[in-house]
Amino acid sequence: MSDLRSPARPLDRARAAVRPVLAAVSRPTGMVEGTRWLFWLLAILSLALSTPAPLLQGRTPSTLPAIAAVTALAASLTIGYLSRRARWGLDLLDGLAVVVLACSGPSPATIFALVFAMIWFRSLYGSAAGALLRCTLYAGAMPVILFLWPVVVGSAGGAQAPVVLSAIPTMFVTVVAARHLFGILRDRQQEAQRDAIHAAAGAMLLGVTDLTEIRRVTWQAVSDICVATPGLRVLGTQQVGEGLQVVASTGSFDHVPTTLSSAVRGTLEQHQGDAPAMTGLAELDATVGLPCLWHCLPAFDQSVAGWMILGSPRRLPEQAVVTLTSLVTQGLLAMRNGQAHRELTVQATLDSLTGLANRALFNTALSTTLAAADGTETAVLFVDLDDFKDVNDLLGHSAGDELLREVAARITVATRTDDLCARLGGDEFAVLLPRTSADEATAIARRIVTAVGGRMNLTAGVAQVGASVGLAVDVGDSTPDQIVQRADIAMYAAKAGGKGRMQLFSAGLLQGDSVQAAFERQLSAAAANDELVVHYQPVVSLPDARCTAVEALVRWQHPERGLLDPGHFIAAAERTGAIRDIGMFVLRQACADAADWRGSRPGADLAVHVNVSALQLDDDAFCDEVLRCLEEFSMPADELVLEITETVVISSPAAIDTLNTLAAHGVVVAIDDFGTGYSALTTLRSLPVSIVKIDASFVAGSTVNPRDRAVTEAVVQMASRMGMRTIAEGVERPDQQALLESIGADAAQGFLYLRPAPADDLVRWLDAQPAPASTPGDVVVSLPRRHAVGRA
Ligand code: C2E
Ligand code: CA
Ligand code: CA
Repeated sequence: MSDLRSPARPLDRARAAVRPVLAAVSRPTGMVEGTRWLFWLLAILSLALSTPAPLLQGRTPSTLPAIAAVTALAASLTIGYLSRRARWGLDLLDGLAVVVLACSGPSPATIFALVFAMIWFRSLYGSAAGALLRCTLYAGAMPVILFLWPVVVGSAGGAQAPVVLSAIPTMFVTVVAARHLFGILRDRQQEAQRDAIHAAAGAMLLGVTDLTEIRRVTWQAVSDICVATPGLRVLGTQQVGEGLQVVASTGSFDHVPTTLSSAVRGTLEQHQGDAPAMTGLAELDATVGLPCLWHCLPAFDQSVAGWMILGSPRRLPEQAVVTLTSLVTQGLLAMRNGQAHRELTVQATLDSLTGLANRALFNTALSTTLAAADGTETAVLFVDLDDFKDVNDLLGHSAGDELLREVAARITVATRTDDLCARLGGDEFAVLLPRTSADEATAIARRIVTAVGGRMNLTAGVAQVGASVGLAVDVGDSTPDQIVQRADIAMYAAKAGGKGRMQLFSAGLLQGDSVQAAFERQLSAAAANDELVVHYQPVVSLPDARCTAVEALVRWQHPERGLLDPGHFIAAAERTGAIRDIGMFVLRQACADAADWRGSRPGADLAVHVNVSALQLDDDAFCDEVLRCLEEFSMPADELVLEITETVVISSPAAIDTLNTLAAHGVVVAIDDFGTGYSALTTLRSLPVSIVKIDASFVAGSTVNPRDRAVTEAVVQMASRMGMRTIAEGVERPDQQALLESIGADAAQGFLYLRPAPADDLVRWLDAQPAPASTPGDVVVSLPRRHAVGRA
């Protein structure tokens, strides 16, 4: 093998040797370097073309100096090009070589083309003053040539004087033109670099939500822009007391101070964003050691008040300021996005009413605690309020909310710092007690019963509720579901045992006919026994306030306990599977009612929203049942909206298949309670979702809390960008509606329009709405009048 290759070796070696030389002299990228390369090449060419004249002279004494001069000039030009610098040593050598070359030729004018080519090339390096000085050197060489040439040639040179001297002014004009060209090229190149840095930073910031990373990316881009803009320096500052603290710096400083005085801060405050830039700021000038022009921009980090101070001697490049301003805005936007993202994440784990953990966080914490328990006991308390509904009915919903907050506070006080208190929904709370024995947990449960059972002074009056607490303790043998179920069973036993007490779970509770078991048995028969009732709540489009749809919400007419809201039985129904029958009952009833309304109110078609639970979607038969229902009641598929929660879909591939099939038939899918789960809107992209229902907690917060408002706004905007409609839930007041309108939400639902009501009440309410002028069939809701309408 090696023998076969050996003939090629010398060639390869030659190629290898030539490659770096070719690389060094091939055209570089960048406007400035590219132009320098071109002018260097032209100067070399010029030198090559002016060489034959002296040599053809044939005067032997001149030939050697001419060859030496040409060699020196070629070397000097190439060294200058490769080292990318102006060097005075090389200029002197150039001057000398030019004189020698001129004196060796038939006429001093033979070197003019070369001198001009050299001026163009050399003027692209160093300062303008340096370029003029160099030109003066070349100009000075001219009289020397005029003096020496006749001596060397041995003839009178007087006739050459006007030709040679008249070139001198043009040499200076050439320097000015070359410097001008250089300035334009340099500015363009810097601008292109800054644009590239800006674009790269912008692209990075789009995908970052971590605030520290946003700060790092933005500041790195500021530093890169400083590098691309010679002379530019930037100080990052924060307000501290009256003055400013310097938190970052980039660019060349004599010394970076730790603080700046209140005087500097005052000037910055006065001139923020002003053009032209500020001068005469001695304290800032001292940091650079030169008088500079200064400009300031607001800091991109909205969490701190402060400025970014830009400075540069002589002139502050306008384009650099524009780029930095735009970068700061981009950083600011990214910070806001990151903040909103963080809040969404926090809100996804907290109960917005009480600030306690929500069900999702509780479940996660329970799983983690059990997994890490390592033989230690873990206790779970389930707390259900007794007679909470009375407070809501007698004192109103806001009193109910106030009471729930007070209960949350009392439970928190009754527990220890390491315990996790959560609100699971409605009036149900839970406490996770890591590393806690049954005795300790019993003591805490008793404290909760006593604390919650005390009188509460609410704004609307005095209230008193009880707490029934169920307690289950795991000794390392149960799953999260099992321990939760046991605490739940114990809680029902506590309630059955007379309310306002606690009950520790024991296997005995499972035997015999425990209260929970009886309740669940009744629940599983509720649909068959015709004990279920469907209430409806209108969905109203914004801003025209037309009732476009209704949501079906189930209630259970319990044989002993009266009409129960879903909060009392849906969780149990999901646990036992009774939700399948309940859900099917609601779907059929809603389709039947919708068919009635289509008959009695022609032209005013209302879409019907039906809540669907995870279990239903996992059922193979569900899809067929829905389609059969549509056929039986001649219901247009796009008038049926299935409401599902985010967690349902994300957890089950089968559910996604079912939804895709139904959506392909035209059935509409809505995501319910959006914002309370873990998902971001973008994760729903792959699902056939057309409607996003923004959870009531965001609506409640939006008018009082700018952050809630920002989140609501972000969800609406992003949903609309993804082609989804938005319905805001839990709208209770006109100001909430006004805000939602301004944000651009498509529709609203809540007590402001109507509380969930039986079908007959809903029809009466619909009939009472004024008919719109434009679309005769639709129902228009008149807000001020309807404000007081409530459920019986
Ligand atoms: P959801 O689907 O989020 O239904 C909206 C709940 O918010 C209803 O509670 C409604 O009464 C209440 N609401 C409406 N407007 C307002 C308002 O302005 N302020 C306040 N504070 N609340 C308002 P409801 O009827 O008690 O239902 C509770 C949950 O039970 C429903 O929440 C839904 O998740 C579930 N649910 C109800 N019916 C069914 C059903 O047929 N099947 C399934 N799987 N779940 C159902
Ligand atoms: Ca719903
Ligand atoms: Ca909802």
